[in-house]
Amino acid sequence: MHPKKDISTRAVHAAQLKETDVRPVSTPLYLSTTYHRNPDGTYNHDYLYSRADNPNRRTLEKAIAELENGANCCAFASGMAAISAVFQSLETGDHVLIPDDVYFNVELLLREVMQRWGLSYTAVNMADLKAIKGAWQPTTRLIWLETPSNPQLKLTDIAAVCHFAKAANALVAVDNTWPTPVLTRPLELGADVVVHSTTKYFGGHSDVLGGCVVLKTENELAQRIQTIQKYGGGVPSPFDCWLITRGIQTLALRVKAQTQTAQVLAEFLEAHPAIERVIYPGLPSHPQYALAQRLMPSGCGAMLAVLVKGGAERADQVAQSLMLFTVATSLGGVESLIERRKAVEGPASSTPDNLLRLSIGLESAADLINDWTEALS
Ligand SMILES: *Cc1c(COP(=O)(O)O)cnc(C)c1O
Repeated sequence: MHPKKDISTRAVHAAQLKETDVRPVSTPLYLSTTYHRNPDGTYNHDYLYSRADNPNRRTLEKAIAELENGANCCAFASGMAAISAVFQSLETGDHVLIPDDVYFNVELLLREVMQRWGLSYTAVNMADLKAIKGAWQPTTRLIWLETPSNPQLKLTDIAAVCHFAKAANALVAVDNTWPTPVLTRPLELGADVVVHSTTKYFGGHSDVLGGCVVLKTENELAQRIQTIQKYGGGVPSPFDCWLITRGIQTLALRVKAQTQTAQVLAEFLEAHPAIERVIYPGLPSHPQYALAQRLMPSGCGAMLAVLVKGGAERADQVAQSLMLFTVATSLGGVESLIERRKAVEGPASSTPDNLLRLSIGLESAADLINDWTEALS
C-alpha cells in the first residue's frame, strides 16, 4: 500500500481482506464484529454489527428453520439461553405447565429465576392428557414438552396436546433436542415453538455449546424472541455457529446410524440376564410403543436407559468397566457416553438408583455389544 504511511497503519490495513468476489464452496468463518456502511447508509445483506446478525449465525438459523419446517429461527449461546428466551417472552402472571421429569435445569430456571419475575409453573405427567387438563389454570399460557423425556424416556402425544392447547388458547413449546428433526418434527404436529440444545446432535462432536428457538410463523412471538436475542445478547459466536452448521451437514447420517445401533444394543441388553430392564421406545416392552411408532416412525433415537441388576454400586461398576463408553454427562456426540443419572440429579430425584443413561455414538454395534458382554461378565 502507501509506503509513506506509518508501519502501524500499514500493518492494520494491509492485513484486511480486499477481494469481495471470493466464492468458496464451504461456508467461511466471518469473525468480524462490524460491517462496512455504504455511502447511502445501507448495509450489504443488512449486516451491521455481529450481535444483531452475522453471516455464520444467519446460515445456521436458516438451516435449522429449514430442517424443522419453521418460518423463523433464533440462535443462542446455549440451550438454556434459548429456553430462557421463551420464558422471557411471556408476561408476568402467566402460568406454565412443564413435564414432571423435565430436563432438570429447566425446572431450576423456573424456580430460581423466572418465578421472581412472576411466572408460575406446575409439573405434570405429560404422558397423561387427563393430568394436563387437571393442572390447567385460567392463566396457563404455555405447555412445555420434552419427548422422549430424560432419563426415563416417557413419550408425549404432541398432536393430542397441541389439539387441546389450541382450544384453550395456549402455546405449545417442544424441546426437540433428543429426537432432532430427523426423527420428529413438532411444528408439523401442531406445536408453536421448538427449542434445541444444539450442543447435542446438531453440533454432534461434543465441542460447542449452542441453542435455538424455532417458530412456526413470523408472528408477534417470533418478534419477541428476536428482540430478546438482540438486546439480551445471549448469542453464539460466529465460530460456534460455524461449528454447529458444519455438524448439521452430517446430522441425518449420524442420527440414523446412532439410532440403528441403539435399537440393536437395546434388544441385546433386554435379553441379557444381568439386566433388570431396558427403557427404549423402540422396544415392544416400552409402555408407549405404539405412540413411539407414530412419533418417531424412522427410528426411536440414540438414547436409552438400562437398569442393572444389583443396585447403584453394581451399576457404577459396570459403567466403569465399559471400555468404549466414557463416563460423562451430555449426549449426542460421535462417542458413546454413559451416566448413572441419580448420581447427577441428587437424592430427591425419582430416577431409579441403578439406571444408567446411554448416549450411543458412531462406534459399531458389534463392538458396543462385545464391550457390554465383557463388562457384565
Ligand atoms: C442439554 C439439554 C438442554 C440444555 O442445553 P445446554 O446447551 O446445555 O444449555 C436442554 N434440554 C435438553 C433436552 C438437553 O439435553
